[in-house]
Parts: sequence; structure tokens; C-alpha cells
Amino acid sequence: MQDARNFYINGQWVAPQNGRDMAVIDPSTEDGFATISLGGQQDTDAAVDAARAAFPAWRKSSKAERLELLDSILAVYTKRSDEMGAAISQEMGAPIDMAKVQQSGTGSAHIKAFIEALKGFEFERELRPNTPNDRIIYEPIGVCALITPWNWPMNQISLKVIPALATGCTMVLKPSEQSPMSGILFSEIMHEAGVPAGVYNMLNGDGAGVGSQLSAHKDVDMVSFTGSTRAGRAITIAGAETIKRVSLELGGKGANLIFADADDKAVKNGIARCFNNTGQSCNAPTRMLVERSRYAQAVEQAKDAAEAISVNAASVEGRHIGPLVSELQFNKVQDLIQAGIDEGARLVTGGIGRPEGLNRGYFVRPTVFADCNNTMTIMREEIFGPVISMMPFDSEEEAIEIANDTDYGLTNYIQTTDGARAKRVAREVRSGMVDINGQARSAGSPFGGMKQSGNGREGGVWGLEEFLEVRAIGGWPAQ
Ligand code: NAD
Repeated sequence: MQDARNFYINGQWVAPQNGRDMAVIDPSTEDGFATISLGGQQDTDAAVDAARAAFPAWRKSSKAERLELLDSILAVYTKRSDEMGAAISQEMGAPIDMAKVQQSGTGSAHIKAFIEALKGFEFERELRPNTPNDRIIYEPIGVCALITPWNWPMNQISLKVIPALATGCTMVLKPSEQSPMSGILFSEIMHEAGVPAGVYNMLNGDGAGVGSQLSAHKDVDMVSFTGSTRAGRAITIAGAETIKRVSLELGGKGANLIFADADDKAVKNGIARCFNNTGQSCNAPTRMLVERSRYAQAVEQAKDAAEAISVNAASVEGRHIGPLVSELQFNKVQDLIQAGIDEGARLVTGGIGRPEGLNRGYFVRPTVFADCNNTMTIMREEIFGPVISMMPFDSEEEAIEIANDTDYGLTNYIQTTDGARAKRVAREVRSGMVDINGQARSAGSPFGGMKQSGNGREGGVWGLEEFLEVRAIGGWPAQ
């Protein structure tokens, strides 16, 4: 077992003061391969104190110094990118090839995008043209607690740490206890890149411990959180006592609206998109809504596409999907598949139990449900596994109504060759992001949700503004 107990506080690796051991499990084998420590209040306090002490100097650092640091982080990250992919693959089960390209790749992509956003960002500006005596100053909010989940660990860590550094904040990162190895490696990268002591700190812990302690800490000015709606609610309540800014990126239940005139590959691509990362993406298109004239054919296409997906261990090279992250998630997904069957959805392929030939590891059968309705649990709850729920619609209005009939509002997907309809529907679906005909949003565009999917916007200029206070000054001397 690898000893991974130490925390990174004030520029050094230090032993926990009042931590508890936890085994990190490889979800493909169910075997423990490392031991981390879940920190306690003294560890949280030490990390927050270090960040607080480093804030006055880092707040005054220049944009040029911060850009130089981000360039250095990018260079070290790029050098260690494959190592990062391997760490993520083992800790959370993303297949090794996918982990190196997609999982680890999100880190370098976000660092590059933030370097561009920072270059163009003016921290001091006029209110508007010809207002020389008004000054708007953007200023770092202070000490930030960054709490991240396990499903896209480097995506979420880089979307928080890099803008916090870029804006002059200091921080404490608490990665998910399910995926701590990538957070530890990231801390080594930060050290090697020369981040000043105390500016970036990292400790491991669970939600009830370090997570709650950070959210309630009087010396933390902001919590940036990605994870479940349940935890987002708890953090908001804990942060209210000290009026913290709480930025939330939460769950989703994206609808994929496939109109009769959509491209032939729309269903196949929708399945691939939904089952990527074994369905463990907050923005997965998990509700496939198909115009009735094309519905029967779409169900057959979905069945074929799901049955063509192979499932295997994360360490095996190739284009399969891996296991779910943990036994807890495995049981949760099994229960939701059972709920789909019990509530009368038609099981087209997949179902309860592990795929054939896999007797160990948290592997789930790629599962398609058809003939769902919007009251079913599998249409309302985030499943976070390779499970999709299909339902027909008769009109554009009905499609929009079903898409919007959810507590979530993260990403919706539209498939149509009618440009005017694509624009109409994109304006009407209530989600922070919309993806038309599979076209990805460009680097630097804001990621975030509406309704119970959260209130934050990560990436680009919006991602920088999250970590800034806006100050307005009148009577600014013109000379
Ligand atoms: P989770 O909420 O259980 O855990 C996320 C993080 O929060 C972990 O670090 C955990 O230790 C911590 N945490 C848990 N309870 C806490 C509490 N009460 N106070 C403070 N911290 C607490 O979520 P998870 O199971 O790790 O991740 C899956 C969820 O994340 C899904 O619901 C998914 O949709 C969501 N997610 C959202 C986005 C997004 O950007 N919108 C991205 C990825 C994942």
C-alpha cells in the first residue's frame, strides 16, 4: 500500500495532526492500493491559516507574475500529464487511454484557456468611456476553499485552482476522498512549478469533516464547490453564518432533443456522449427525447449502440468503458435500474448485475430504457452510470416542456438540421449550456447551470470573475 497520508500546507508536505486513515480502492479490482488520511479540525485550521497568511502578499502580485506562474504550471503539468492520466485511471476507473487524453487533457486545456483570459483581463478600468473620475477595481476575494468531486478530478481542480491563482486569491483544495491521488500529484506539480508557500494548500478529508469545516470556517471568504446538489445545499447553509460567497456546480439531468430531421448518427452519438466516463458526468445527456415518427427506429439504434459498448478494467488499453467509482455508486445505480423496471419503463438492453465475464469490480451493464415518462425516478434523478432513459414527443412545444420539467438545468442537447428551430429551441430550454448537433463549446466559454444545477460559472472571463470582488470608486483623481 502506498502511503499518501501527508498534506501540502504552506509549501511543505506535512503529517496530519488529527487525521484518520482511509484506503483508496481501485474500482476495477476492489483492492486498496494506497492509504490517505482524512484530516481533522487542526489540519483544516493549519491549511486555512497558511492561506490567510499568504494572502496579503499574493493579493499584490502583478498580472505579469501570475502569468509567469501559470506558464510554469502548464509546463510542469504537460510534462507529467501521462502520470496524471494513470493516477486518475486507477483511483476512479477511467480507462487508461481515455484518462490520459480526456481526463488529464482537461487540466492542460483549462490552464491554457485561463492564461488567455488573464492576458486580456483588466483589473482596473473606467466605469464607461468618458468617466475619468470613476474607477472600477476588481480585487481578489481572499481565502478560497475549493471542494471537488471524483468524476472529472482534473477538470474540476483546474477550473478552480487556476482562476483562484490568476486573480490573486489564496486557497485550500480538498479533492474528493474517492479520487485523492490526482490531487496529491497536482500538488506536487504546483510545488515544482514554484507556487509561493501558503498560496496553494491541499488536504484530504471527507464531507462531514474537512468539507464542513472549510465551509463554516470564519477565515474562508469563498467556497467554490462542484459535486452533488445535496452537498451544495449543506455548504450553502454552513457558509451563510459568515456570509461567504458560495459558488456551486451541481448535478444535471440533460435532455437530448432528437427531431425527425436530425442527422442519421444523432442517436448513436447521443449514446456515446451519455455513456462516456461510464455515465459519470454531470452534463451527460441522460434523457433522450425523440420525435415520434423516428422513435421506434431510435430505440433500435440505441440498443445497437449500447450493445456495441464493451466494459473492461481501467488498466486495459482501448475504447471500452470502465467501472463506476465505488461500491456506493454501484449499489445506487443498481437500485435506480431496479426502480426503472419496477415503475414500468421498458428495459431494452442491459439491466441489473455485472456484464458477463466480470465478477469483481464496480462494473455496470450499459442499459437503455424506453417508453419512459417524466414522472419516473429514472427520468428525474441523476443516475451517474451508463443508463439512458428514452421517451417520444409529438411537437416542438412538448419537447421543450419535457426538457424543462426537471429540477436541474445544466446542459441540454438539440439535434435538428433546421437552423431556425435549433435557435428557437436553444432559447427556450432552461439550462446554463446548450449543445446543438454535437458541436462543443469553445475554450473560454462559461460552464455552469441554472435551477438546482447551481449558480456558478467556470472557465474564461466568467471563471475569473467568480473569484473577484468588484469595487466602485468615485472621485478618482484624473491625473
Ligand atoms: P459529493 O457531493 O458527495 O462530493 C463532492 C465533494 O464534496 C467531495 O469532495 C466531498 O468530500 C465533498 N462533500 C460532501 N459532502 C459535503 C458537505 N456536507 N460539506 C462539504 N463538502 C462535502 O459528490 P460526488 O458524489 O463526489 O460527485 C458526484 C456529483 O457531482 C454528481 O451529482 C454530479 O452531477 C456532480 N458534478 C457536478 C459538476 C458540475 O460542474 N455541475 C461536475 C461534476 C460533478
